[in-house]
Amino acid sequence: MIIILIGSPGSGKGTQGRFLANKLGIPHLSIGDMLRKIAKSSSKDGVLVNNYMTEGKLVPSEVVNGIIKKILSTKEYKNGCLLDGYPRNIEQVQFLEGFINKNIKVIYFDVDNQIMTKRILGRFTCSNCGEIYNTYYFKPKVDQVCDVCNSSDFSYRNDDDEQTINKRIQEYNKETQPLIEYYKSQGRLYTVNANKDKEAVEVALEALLKRV
Ligand code: AMP
Repeated sequence: MIIILIGSPGSGKGTQGRFLANKLGIPHLSIGDMLRKIAKSSSKDGVLVNNYMTEGKLVPSEVVNGIIKKILSTKEYKNGCLLDGYPRNIEQVQFLEGFINKNIKVIYFDVDNQIMTKRILGRFTCSNCGEIYNTYYFKPKVDQVCDVCNSSDFSYRNDDDEQTINKRIQEYNKETQPLIEYYKSQGRLYTVNANKDKEAVEVALEALLKRV
């Protein structure tokens, strides 16, 4: 089964994607994380991807589709996965449906605007293991030490500033929001209230998994 995670920036799909993948024992494929790695390279693709990401725009679908197809064709992903951040527009939905015939289910992270903005502005990540924290909502238990791997090396995303966030939210509303109706009409959509704290959303997701 492929489980697609849809939600606005800051809805918690990255954090909960890691939790869900662990729970289900399937790989978590975050296209945003993959693109951030590509954007660090000085290759032609790296520069192109970096330009779109720093402006808060969606990277062109032909680039993203190519990456996704290549990964989903590998052995590791043949039994399904959690797709975090893909598809993000109708073009990508159609592309995915063109080569995936597995059961597709969609979890929609429904979050209020105010919470979403604070989640993005406060977000920081352990550079070693990828655990996601938040200055307002979820700090490490020991200041400056990752709960999971004890590293003290943390990073902030360079597209998490206020101006870029606005652009990312606009892109989400225009390109991705329509997918919610699309998947709903197919009976594939499961909605979780993503306004609650991390543990409460985990509990809600565990209950939801029993229905998926
Ligand atoms: P995320 O980590 O999911 O918040 O994504 C960060 C950025 O990566 C987005 O603002 C886009 O620039 C790019 N991105 C992620 N997923 C996609 C996608 N499916 N299609 C195009 N661009 C994407």
